[in-house]
Amino acid sequence: MAQDGQRVAIVTGGARGIGAATSRRLAADGMAVAVLDLDAATCAGTVAEITGAGGRALAVGADVSKTDQVRAAAERIAAELGPPSVLVNNAGIIRDNLLFKMTDEDFDAVLGVHLRGAFLMTRACQQFMVDAKYGRIVNLSSSSALGNRGQVNYSAAKAGMQGFTKTLAIELGQFGITANAVAPGFIATDMTAATAARIGMGFEDFQKAAASQIPVRRVGQPEDVANVISFFASEAAGFVSGQVIYVAGGPLC
Ligand code: NAP
Repeated sequence: MAQDGQRVAIVTGGARGIGAATSRRLAADGMAVAVLDLDAATCAGTVAEITGAGGRALAVGADVSKTDQVRAAAERIAAELGPPSVLVNNAGIIRDNLLFKMTDEDFDAVLGVHLRGAFLMTRACQQFMVDAKYGRIVNLSSSSALGNRGQVNYSAAKAGMQGFTKTLAIELGQFGITANAVAPGFIATDMTAATAARIGMGFEDFQKAAASQIPVRRVGQPEDVANVISFFASEAAGFVSGQVIYVAGGPLC
């Protein structure tokens, strides 16, 4: 915990989409937030929203798939905001293609950001949490973990996030650290807009088509996911670990 008793959270991929909504939500919950993304400049908007509302936030540039950058980022955050005790592994990319057309590079890039990125970030932060005997790790999985055409790389990474989460829960529980995963369905962000563009559909039509297949008859918003992350990241969630919650407007299993 930082000197003033405020908890410090890191949200990767915090510049936009679900990561930006999560950064704002954790700040509203009272945490100081390190908004981490590939380019620190892209975090400025999220940071300004938090500080404008009276919170504390720091823009941090790092590629989560690069060991040295992750180590340096964790140390800088600990020095400037305080030791991190909440980590949200949210950074992500898609490189969709059918198996027979998927390149080595697209497979490795997706596994590298989601799985290796979450591994590197968690390894870099765990010592701060162990020292504090307190930690909350929240990993972003996806409904694609259950399988999705054109996403052998992404679905493998997102299923992997669930196994990663459960193992963290087992290894780190004795130190007061929980690990849980959130698995969103369709959330309206740049990521789903890119999918619409790839298949040649307007984003509005794409969202309407998706909503018609979702039991609550709407697509998700970044705040729908941030609400669940907020619970997992809270002190109140201390007896919930190794779980996966689908945030998809209906049942998935
Ligand atoms: P998004 O709008 O595309 O935002 C992803 C963010 O991650 C971007 O700011 C991106 O930075 C950043 N990022 C990418 N590679 C990075 C790296 N190597 N190091 C640090 N930051 C990196 O995505 P989103 O829709 O909010 O998704 C957030 C998470 O939720 C992802 O893990 C995604 O897989 C998951 N998810 C999303 C949905 C959905 O429907 N949207 C559904 C299920 C799961 P740049 O802008 O610089 O590229």
